[in-house]
Amino acid sequence: MNEKTKYKAVIGLEMHCELKSNSKVFSSARNSFNEIPNDNIMPLDMGFPGTLPVTNKKCVSDAIKMALVLNCQIPKYMTFDRKNYYYPDLPKGYQITQFYNPVGTNGHITIEVNKEKKDVLIHDIHLEEDAASLDHYDDISCIDYNRCGVPLLELVTEPCLSTAEEAVAFLEHMRNTYRYCDVSEADSKKGQIRCDVNISIMDYDSQELGTKVEIKNVNSFGAVYDVINYEINRQSTLKDLGRYNEVEQETRRWDEETKSTIRMRSKADAIDYKYFPEPNIPPYEITSAWINEIKSSIPILPLERKNIYMTKYNLNDYDASIIIKNKAISDYYEECLKLNINPKIAANWVITQIIGSLNELDININDFYLTPNLLKQITDAIEKNIISSKQAKEIYQKSIDEQKEPKNFISIENSQITDETALQKIITNILNNNQTQIEQYKNGKTNLFDYFVGQVMKETRGKANPTLTKEILQKELNK
Ligand code: ADP
Ligand code: MG
Repeated sequence: MNEKTKYKAVIGLEMHCELKSNSKVFSSARNSFNEIPNDNIMPLDMGFPGTLPVTNKKCVSDAIKMALVLNCQIPKYMTFDRKNYYYPDLPKGYQITQFYNPVGTNGHITIEVNKEKKDVLIHDIHLEEDAASLDHYDDISCIDYNRCGVPLLELVTEPCLSTAEEAVAFLEHMRNTYRYCDVSEADSKKGQIRCDVNISIMDYDSQELGTKVEIKNVNSFGAVYDVINYEINRQSTLKDLGRYNEVEQETRRWDEETKSTIRMRSKADAIDYKYFPEPNIPPYEITSAWINEIKSSIPILPLERKNIYMTKYNLNDYDASIIIKNKAISDYYEECLKLNINPKIAANWVITQIIGSLNELDININDFYLTPNLLKQITDAIEKNIISSKQAKEIYQKSIDEQKEPKNFISIENSQITDETALQKIITNILNNNQTQIEQYKNGKTNLFDYFVGQVMKETRGKANPTLTKEILQKELNK
C-alpha cells in the first residue's frame, strides 16, 4: 500500500506491555506463567478489605527505564491514581494506574520504516496493573485471577502515524526495545502485548483532525495492519458517499473471522472513571541518582547497534537489520567480534547458517551448541587455508549434529591441499591429458581457464586450495 490514498489517515496507538518481574506490581503474588487458574493470587489481588498495596520497586525502575528510552520527561515523584469501574475481571472495583502524573510524558523515539527514519511522538507512558482474564464458553464464563495485578506499561503515542506500515514498524520497534531493555518478553502470543488502535481520516489540505474511531484489544501485529487498512477504507467510502457524519467517535473491535471491525459502543456511552489519587500509595521520590543508575543499565539499542555495524564493520543495511532483530543474536555476533573473527565473515555465518540452524532446531541462540569460541575454530581453519569453505559447512553441521567441537573434524586427512609440489603434480597430469583444450585456450578461448580449475577440483574432490590452484594453472598455461 504505497500509493497515495485519497485521504490522509491519522493513527495513534496505545500499546500495553506486561513487565517481567518476580512478583506482581502491588502484591507479593508470583508474576509468572501458570497453567493452574487462580493460583498466582494474594488477598490484595482479590480485592479483600483491609489489604494494602505495596509498590514493586523493580517495576517502577523498569517503567522509568522505558520512559528514559522514549526520551520522556520524568516527574519528581512516582504517584498512582484510581480508575473506578465495575467489571468481573476487576475484583477491587478499580484499577491502580497513573492518570495525573505518568512516569513519562512528551517523549519521542526514532524508528525505521522502509529504511527511512521517522520520529514517533510519545504522549505518555504509565505504569498500571493488569486485570484478570475472562474465558467465555457457551453458557458460562470463567475468570482466572492470575493476571490480576500483573505489571503493565501503557504507552500512548500522539496521532502522528499515517500508514499501517508505520504503525506496525513502530510496534515491532517497541517490542524489540522492550526485549533489549530486558523489561519484558514482549510476546504477543502469550498476550503480553496488546494494542488499541485509533484511526481517523482527513483531507490532505485540511488543518482539522477527523473523527477518531478506537479499535480495542487488537492482539497481533498482523491484525493491527488489517484493522488500519480496513478502517481507512471504511471511513473513506463513507466520506466518498457524502456520509462522513456516520463515522462516529466510537469503540469498535476487530473480528478475525469476517476481517472487519464491529461497533461496540459510542464514545457518548463512555463511563466516567472518577479518577482520583490512590490514597494507599504515598508519592515516591524519583531521585536523580536513581535515574542515573537506571540510565547506566540501558544497553546499546537496536538502531544504534545497526548504525555501528554499518559504519564500523561495513555491513550492508540488510545484514545489519537481520542481526539486530534479536538481541541474543546481536550479542552472539558481538561476541564473535571480540574474538577477532572478521566482522563480515561472522555476519555471513550468523545470517546464512546459524539463524537457519536455530529455526531448524527451534531453539534460542543461548542454547545453541556452537558458541562463538567454537565457531572461531572453523573460521580460523578457513583463514589458514586448512579447510575450504565447502568443508567448513560440513564441519559446522557435523559439529552441531554430534555436539563435538569443530576441531575434532578438522583433521589433516580432511584438509585442503595446500602443498605446492603436490598440487603441481596433479595439475601437470591434468594438463598432459588436455592438450586440445590448451591449444584452444592459447588461441584465445580464455574462458577455458575455469574448465581447468574444474578439472583440478574434480580430481581432488574439492580439496585443492583454490588460490594456489589458479596461481599454478596461470603459470603453466602462460609458459
Ligand atoms: P481519549 O480521550 O479517547 O482517550 P485521547 O485524545 O487521549 O483520546 O487519545 C487516545 C489515543 O487516540 C492516542 O493514541 C491519540 O494519539 C489518538 N488520537 C487522538 N486523536 C486522534 C485522531 N483524530 N485520529 C487518530 N487518532 C487520534
Ligand atoms: Mg490504560
